[in-house]
Amino acid sequence: MRNRWDDRYARRLSPLEALVYRSRLLGAEPTLGLFGGGNTSSKWEARDVLGQPQSLLWVKGSGADLRTCDARHFAPLQLQGLRRLSQRRSMSDDEMMALLERCLTDLKAPRPSVETLLHAFIPEQAVDHTHADAILALANTPQGQRWIRQALGPDLLWIPYIQPGFALCRRVFEAYQRHPGAHGAVLQHHGLMTWGADGRTSFARTIACVSRAERFLTARRTSPRNRHASAAIPVAARRRTLRAWLPAIRRTISAQRKMHVTLTATPDILAFLSQPRLIAASRRGPATPDHMLRTKRLPLTLSAAQSTGSVIRALQRYTQSHARYFEAYHAPGQQMLDPSPRVMLVPQVGMLTTGKDATEAQMVAEIFRHAIAIMQGAARIEAYTSISARAAFGVEYWPLELYKLSLAPPEAELAREIGLITGAAGGIGRAIAQHLVDHGASVVVADLRARDARQLAEALNRRAGRLRALGVAMDVTRERGIEQVLDQALEIFGGLDFVVSNAGIADVASIDRLPLKTWERSLAVNATGHFLVARAAVRFLRAQGLGGALVFIASKNVLAPGRDFGAYSAAKAAEAQLARVLAIENGEANIRVNVVHPDGVFDGSGLWEAIRAERAKSHRIAPRALEEHYRKRNLLQARVLPEDVAEAVSFFISKRSAKTTGCLLTVDGGLREAFPR
Ligand code: ZN
Repeated sequence: MRNRWDDRYARRLSPLEALVYRSRLLGAEPTLGLFGGGNTSSKWEARDVLGQPQSLLWVKGSGADLRTCDARHFAPLQLQGLRRLSQRRSMSDDEMMALLERCLTDLKAPRPSVETLLHAFIPEQAVDHTHADAILALANTPQGQRWIRQALGPDLLWIPYIQPGFALCRRVFEAYQRHPGAHGAVLQHHGLMTWGADGRTSFARTIACVSRAERFLTARRTSPRNRHASAAIPVAARRRTLRAWLPAIRRTISAQRKMHVTLTATPDILAFLSQPRLIAASRRGPATPDHMLRTKRLPLTLSAAQSTGSVIRALQRYTQSHARYFEAYHAPGQQMLDPSPRVMLVPQVGMLTTGKDATEAQMVAEIFRHAIAIMQGAARIEAYTSISARAAFGVEYWPLELYKLSLAPPEAELAREIGLITGAAGGIGRAIAQHLVDHGASVVVADLRARDARQLAEALNRRAGRLRALGVAMDVTRERGIEQVLDQALEIFGGLDFVVSNAGIADVASIDRLPLKTWERSLAVNATGHFLVARAAVRFLRAQGLGGALVFIASKNVLAPGRDFGAYSAAKAAEAQLARVLAIENGEANIRVNVVHPDGVFDGSGLWEAIRAERAKSHRIAPRALEEHYRKRNLLQARVLPEDVAEAVSFFISKRSAKTTGCLLTVDGGLREAFPR
């Protein structure tokens, strides 16, 4: 690991800026810790509001991420008050956090790290704490102390595992008092601490320790890294397996709240999965307590040869075993957390991870990838070991650790819902996709124009700041293509909850002049296309057993057809009738099917641009007068926008319409001739 400290730059910074700089440098190294793990601090003198000098400890707030933190993620505390606490023999978590809060000098500061007292008791100016992979690989072995001593020398204290909290802070402080010359401490099954007279020194010590541990591990590499790399079943077989499993897996793990499931099938993961010895090691427990918050204590191992029924039984056994673990160790008043696995290992297929959305599921995969690196390293040195089930429970159900998760903002209305939108790159499709993503949904945006679909997905993901959209090419008239889209969606999102069937085309001609080809093409896209997409979706939704919603974008023409629009109106009427039959057939599976009838939605519409001139001719007006013509003919004299259609769609997808199916909703500004009757 390279030391990236730029002293010329760092010397120009204020003490707080320098602390942020150091924290971000540590956070930029993924092998030092991930997603809110680890913490940093500095101490300096400042004047309080009355002008009196006081010693402050600035420490990272609980849950803030070292990689992205800035000044507002750090909390200032009165050091004198904190130091006095080192005299105490024991202290409950609640008391500790209450006292920390009392020592804050800024009431708006974030909640200080649960390891704040560790930082306060060590008198050195700067303290850094990380969960470095290479250190854990050495420390998580039967003779961890010996390997750490060999690799890092005598300047590091060795602290046998103890649960984070006041007792750990005291234990490290006592060890420091016995060896005041120490540069830091290795916390068994937990991580690394370094300290120094300034930030630069403490940082350099972290980098030096990790580099030495990495070299120690590399020197003992016995086999080439990718000896096992090729063990994977063909993609088609993998997709068949996932298609059979995922509906059942998602239903089983979504008992409390809907989850996403993401597949990671990269060469490094597949290589790990081809080594039964390492998979067995992963069932010993977490690499550091910090990982467990996201990955849970143990992964579930499945085999590609298993039937769907036996996968469900394996999930049930996992859940029951978590319930027994909870029964054995919980304190009165504690509630059992979601007992489902977060990590499922499937040799020859890949790793399935779960989360509230694909970003969180990928985060779990990323953390487990580091756990794998630690297990591999430990196995190379000696053997991987972890903490006991009791100790793991202590952290997994530790309220102070769970607090980090509570910092997530409240979930949006459509959070955890996964949908497919066809014809998504057009005006209406785009507005629907944007609206649904803004309200928390994850969407597959499908369009005949692959590039437009991908660009739309990228824009949606940038806007949401998370992986919420997948852009794919899809022709709604091709059965195979629809199945492939479903397969791709499953590997990222793990399920499906709704479909917005929106793709459509329009042609203008009176029936006496309508070529058969045009008629057939309109039926293929505007009727059969909806049938094929709906059939694939309904089959999946029924297998998944979590209900669902289908929304069909039809047209005012279904209720009040116009001249020269025969091919379009007849096919759209078939679509609307298809929706009603779907509603009748799938009500018992709690799949709701509803129809939206828009009229004259021009903005961003490719459909309208294609037929504008001919449509204007049918109405006997100039092409540029078409918008005004449509606006004036409705009761509200309103221009109907794509966003208005999106609003209706989101109502039909959300629980707000939970008791409604087989319904149609007009979004047309009010047209007497198109009143539903
Ligand atoms: Zn830690």
